[in-house]
Amino acid sequence: SAKASGRGCYSIFGPHMDALVRERAEIERDLRDALSDYSQFEVLYQPKYFAATGAIGSVEALVRWHHPTRGLISPAYFIPIAEEAGLIRELGRFVLKEACRAAAAWPIANVAVNISAVQLRDEGFAMEVMAVLAATGLAPQKLEIEVTETAWMDSFDSCVANIRALRAAGICIALDDFGTGFSTFGRLHETEVDHIKIDKMFVEGLGKNRGDEAIIQAIVELARAKGLKTTAEGVETEEQNAFLTQIGCDELQGFLFAKPMRRADVADLLSKTGWKRKAFVGGLGRSA
Ligand code: C2E
Ligand code: MG
Ligand code: MG
Ligand code: MG
Repeated sequence: SAKASGRGCYSIFGPHMDALVRERAEIERDLRDALSDYSQFEVLYQPKYFAATGAIGSVEALVRWHHPTRGLISPAYFIPIAEEAGLIRELGRFVLKEACRAAAAWPIANVAVNISAVQLRDEGFAMEVMAVLAATGLAPQKLEIEVTETAWMDSFDSCVANIRALRAAGICIALDDFGTGFSTFGRLHETEVDHIKIDKMFVEGLGKNRGDEAIIQAIVELARAKGLKTTAEGVETEEQNAFLTQIGCDELQGFLFAKPMRRADVADLLSKTGWKRKAFVGGLGRSA
């Protein structure tokens, strides 16, 4: 990493790399500033739908950073920087509180929060989550925690105590971006997780790449054999929807159904009793 190579070494990368390193340092500084009052951050929510009924099962919290001069910055870019800079705990706590507060007011549906391995390694993390639940009045059964498969593989041993404490309290654990870590198939630690989220890379390949179809089918079958729930992310087309529903994937999420949206829009969506996604192919016909 840039840090490991030391401050004096930038010039060996040439002018382009210098610019990147400078930008990275600026982002880190701005992130630190933004964490003083959180006003530049916004939490959006994207529904996940039960494939069998078309109803919303849970809603995933996804953080956004509205940078004062650079505009909207993707979490895929700034979350790793926050992790390396030691800022992810604060940011993660903010998202968790926002998400639990929002979900406590929802009539139905769970809330899913992405948690960094850095947070899961902290000794007091499970206690901190319980404190947020108590403060917001959200039942533990309504919270799902998403951990990426790669983070899970890299730091399972240091996270397992928190994972067990969270699950003992009734909180579900989902393995996010499943299939990208390659080796978890053999050592899924299936007794420590509840859900598997199939990475959108494989969903994207449906209808184009027979290998991806086979991988998804294998993941769904493995999960079913182990009693785990499956969610497919990044569903964008009717063809993907039909395939995933037909092979028995439990939950679907993607732009075909809903994009990440503001908290107030989720409340509207959920308050329509029996709200179901459009173009539902699962057998009950089309509903509003
Ligand atoms: P993720 O948890 O795997 O979330 C899925 C990403 O795919 C989200 O991107 C979502 O907006 C996007 N997405 C959803 N449906 C579709 C679709 O149909 N097509 C396509 N192309 N994309 C779709 P987003 O919001 O930019 O987040 C990127 C990643 O950043 C997340 O991936 C997650 O790993 C991380 N992240 C986001 N919020 C947080 C957070 O609060 N804490 C932590 N630790 N990580 C976060
Ligand atoms: Mg996620
Ligand atoms: Mg994912
Ligand atoms: Mg992802």
